[in-house]
Amino acid sequence: MSAVRADAQVTELERVNVMKPWLGEEEAQAIAEVVASGWVAQGPKTAAFEQAFAKHQQVAHAVATSSCTTALQLALLVAGVKPGDDVLVPSFSFIATANAPSYVGAHPVFVDVDESTGNVTAQTLDRGLTVATTAVIVVDQGGIPVDLAPIRQWCDLHGLKLIEDAACGAGSTYRGHPVGHGADVSAWSFHPRKLLTTGEGGMLTTNNQQWADRARTLREHAMGVSAAERHSALVAPPESYAEIGYNFRMTDLQAAMGLVQLGKLDAMVTRRRELVEIYRSAINDIEGLELVADPEHGTSNFQSCWIKVLPEYGLNREELLEHLGLRGISARRGIMAAHLQPAYSHLKNLDLPVTEDLTNNTLILPLFHQLGESEQQRVIDALANPRG
Ligand SMILES: *Cc1c(COP(=O)(O)O)cnc(C)c1O
Repeated sequence: MSAVRADAQVTELERVNVMKPWLGEEEAQAIAEVVASGWVAQGPKTAAFEQAFAKHQQVAHAVATSSCTTALQLALLVAGVKPGDDVLVPSFSFIATANAPSYVGAHPVFVDVDESTGNVTAQTLDRGLTVATTAVIVVDQGGIPVDLAPIRQWCDLHGLKLIEDAACGAGSTYRGHPVGHGADVSAWSFHPRKLLTTGEGGMLTTNNQQWADRARTLREHAMGVSAAERHSALVAPPESYAEIGYNFRMTDLQAAMGLVQLGKLDAMVTRRRELVEIYRSAINDIEGLELVADPEHGTSNFQSCWIKVLPEYGLNREELLEHLGLRGISARRGIMAAHLQPAYSHLKNLDLPVTEDLTNNTLILPLFHQLGESEQQRVIDALANPRG
């Protein structure tokens, strides 16, 4: 059936989105206050957001950025990754994970993932190790915490820097702590596809004071004196530029929204986990569908709530997407695999069977804070009646 026909039928029904940020009057008010203050670029609100985020994530330092992608680039730079280095990354991730090493002249080396978590393990990383490897980027895919402790041990054994792409991970835990705090440096995203959003925005966190200081400088043109310091002085001190930096700043408009959203994060996670349990009890009874679950080592915020479509289900993943689309339900294909994209077609002979199985046979279900009971029931009914 054509996409055009699917769209025509959907106008009859209220559409169920896959994701919707939880925004309200509080965010609008916080942004209006920043506008009224006259200071809209990176300033006091950004500093306050950084402090609050560091505290919430149990790390010593947080540096706000324009996105997770730019935070990843800074993370590689402060970790000392050099042009020509190899960086091990999962292919099973949003493409920004794979792109980050190239921004610093390094090369991504794709490794496979564990089937139940969708995350790299010490074993899959070990198979990708090269003589040029200096760092790894692990991901908490869809919010599922990566099993960091064995990876930490393995990295230490080989002298590798451990970077965590925690883009999806705010609100997930690993062995009783927020994810991200066990890596050398972590990167976070506040894109609206994640739980906590600032429109666009990101954060770098680390317990290493020197790395945090360098990231702070690099994100602001490597300026020796920050813009905030210059503007608060009546006579601005002279600035100097020790190296080539970037403009990766967050604005105070975004940070004000981030502070409100951070205050709502725990409630968002609780709500998402409740909704996932409703999906779980229904999907348990449907032959051929498997729902992603917490691993034994932690808890997920279920940023992406994916199901695996097995042959017994009767419809394949593409057919199920269309089946849902005809019922006004916007699901998504599962997490992409970077190595299958034209941008990486020059990397040959990659053996990533689990990645290919997951990317081809998983589907992301609608899940957001204000998902209504009847909307969720429509999704469940559609899943339970593949022929209906
Ligand atoms: C969303 C996402 C990113 C990119 O985040 P931006 O803030 O949009 O740059 C990077 N890595 C992963 C795993 C993501 O899910």
